[in-house]
Amino acid sequence: MNHVHHASRSNKSATQQSAYANAPDNSRTVNQKRNFFTTSPKMAATYTGSCKCAAIRIEITGEPAKTSLCHCENCKKYSGSAYSANAIFPKSAFTIVAGEPKVYETPGGSGNVTSISFCGNCGCTMWSESPTLADLIIVKIGVLDGDAMEKLKPRGELFTKRRPGWLGDVDGAVQMEAGH
Ligand SMILES: [Zn+2]
Ligand SMILES: [Zn+2]
Repeated sequence: MNHVHHASRSNKSATQQSAYANAPDNSRTVNQKRNFFTTSPKMAATYTGSCKCAAIRIEITGEPAKTSLCHCENCKKYSGSAYSANAIFPKSAFTIVAGEPKVYETPGGSGNVTSISFCGNCGCTMWSESPTLADLIIVKIGVLDGDAMEKLKPRGELFTKRRPGWLGDVDGAVQMEAGH
C-alpha cells in the first residue's frame, strides 16, 4: 500500500488508457519487460511526491493546467534559491496520503493572501494555495518523484523583472513581468 511507484510515463489520453487497461494480459507481460515501474493503470497516480524526510507524501492524478517558474521575492525565500518551479493542478486531483503540513499565510507576489504548506520537521516547501485560484493547487515540482522535473518543463515564467541578470530564460517559456 505504501509502496507507490511512479507509474505513468507517457501522456496517454483517457481513451488510450482505458484501451490499455482492457488489453489482454500477454501485452502487459511484454510491457513489464521494458519497464518494471509499470503497475496497474487503474491504481496509479500520475505523480507522487514527498518532503525531504518523507513524513508528508502526496499523490496527483492527471496533468497540470500550467507549469511555471516564479521569480518573485517570496519564492526566493521559500526555496532558498533563485526561483520556484510550480505545477498547477485541480484540487480534486490532489491527495495527501501521509502526514500533515504546517501552513503559513502571507501576501503573495500579486498581493493576495497565499497559504504555503510545508513540512514542520524538515522544512520542505511543498505546495501553495490562493483565493484567486480557488479550485487549484500550486505544487512545487521539486517535491515530485522520478522524472517529474524533466516532464513538467515550465511553459511560463512569472515576475521576470526579479530574475537575476546571470540567469537566462527557459527556451520557449512565455515571459511575464508580473504574475499570472
Ligand atoms: Zn519532511
Ligand atoms: Zn513566486
